[in-house]
Amino acid sequence: MTEEKLEVICDACRRPIEDGEGFLYVELAKVRDLWSGKADPDTTALSLESLMGRPVGPTWIAHHMACAPDDGGDAYDVPVAQVRTWPRLVTTTARLMSKNWFPHTDWNAVLEGAASAGGRRVSRTSLREAS
Ligand SMILES: [Zn+2]
Repeated sequence: MTEEKLEVICDACRRPIEDGEGFLYVELAKVRDLWSGKADPDTTALSLESLMGRPVGPTWIAHHMACAPDDGGDAYDVPVAQVRTWPRLVTTTARLMSKNWFPHTDWNAVLEGAASAGGRRVSRTSLREAS
């Protein structure tokens, strides 16, 4: 059986990311803030981020290694090869579900983005374009 390949689109340059050239990542500092209660709903509701309509929770971002900001931040990476096909995407999702911080991230948007792009692309950008 030939597995259909998913394209992963870089959120910075909007070009496809080949195996070994990039990853999906979430900033663990944001996850920890949420976890420790620093980002409780009362304060985030009035934050500049929420006023500007940006997501306030930890967000998964796809980047080429060359496009990723090298800010020294602590991030959890998922190499694009691990979401390259639907079976791998599901396996990776199952593995991530064992992490206690995972439900606080927007992985659901990653899955919805992949499904909404005709099942051929992993891209948050496609989700935004569709709406
Ligand atoms: Zn890029």
